[in-house]
Amino acid sequence: MNKTMAKQPVFRFAPSPNGQLHLGHALSALLNHAMAKVQGGRLLLRIEDIDIARCTPAFEAGIVEDLEWLGLDWEKPARRQSEHLDLYRQALGKLIDRGLVYPAFLTRGAIKTAVAEYEAKGKSWPRDPDGAPLYPGEERKLSAAARQRMLAGGKPHAWRLDMAKALAELNAPLTWQETGAGPNGETGTITADPAAWGDVVLSRSDAPSSYHLAVTLDDAQQEVTHVVRGHDLFHATSVHRLLQRLLDLPQPVYHHHRLILGSDGRKLSKSNRDTGIAAFREAGKTPDDIRAMVL
Ligand code: GLU
Repeated sequence: MNKTMAKQPVFRFAPSPNGQLHLGHALSALLNHAMAKVQGGRLLLRIEDIDIARCTPAFEAGIVEDLEWLGLDWEKPARRQSEHLDLYRQALGKLIDRGLVYPAFLTRGAIKTAVAEYEAKGKSWPRDPDGAPLYPGEERKLSAAARQRMLAGGKPHAWRLDMAKALAELNAPLTWQETGAGPNGETGTITADPAAWGDVVLSRSDAPSSYHLAVTLDDAQQEVTHVVRGHDLFHATSVHRLLQRLLDLPQPVYHHHRLILGSDGRKLSKSNRDTGIAAFREAGKTPDDIRAMVL
């Protein structure tokens, strides 16, 4: 290939098979498909099924059925995250060796209680862009020996990024190119703000990776050049950019699109069957009707 020729763009649609696809997913899938076509790019399908407790083969089959019914095509086979756990483990191992992550033993319930007790005194606890309280991070101060003892005790734990330490390793500003828009219309060159997320989870106690780590590694592994997804993931991009920098991975261009809201003005959820693509199909709607509803 001529060296000066631009690389063929690679797009991906990356649903989690923990429910049925709804109109919001239809918009994402249709946009990815259309943008790949216009730019002469490839379209990949990635099944994000690391959450073993909630993802099922039946939901995955439903996703494929819905996408085919919409008239979309993509490169086969689809990638399943559950088949690439070693990739996530290896990357986590590197970050452990560099002292950038630590085992975190507090459960979600325990964090909630600690924060509620703190806020009962009239003080407010910092929250991440999704509204969840930042991790208290007490374990950051544990000695290596104490950490080892706790791990040897077999207590369930997540691995969290030591955000302050990770940020201290950055020696150049962290930005990304946004060709869509964030929730407040942010577009163009965006300055990443990973600190807003605190010590994010990179490996969960109940799953072998976190969304952030798996999505970043897979986008790199699959040589994705364009990430097109809903703007509910706009702020998460800050974490993905940080992981790309720490793990020396290439950065895609990001394009966040609007969300489709339900009649109650809220983001659609997978548990709301009325706006599921399958429900529209069963009610006699056509793929063109779906296109007209979302595009
Ligand atoms: N799996 C994620 C979801 O279903 C999307 C991940 C992404 O597009 O980055 O919300």
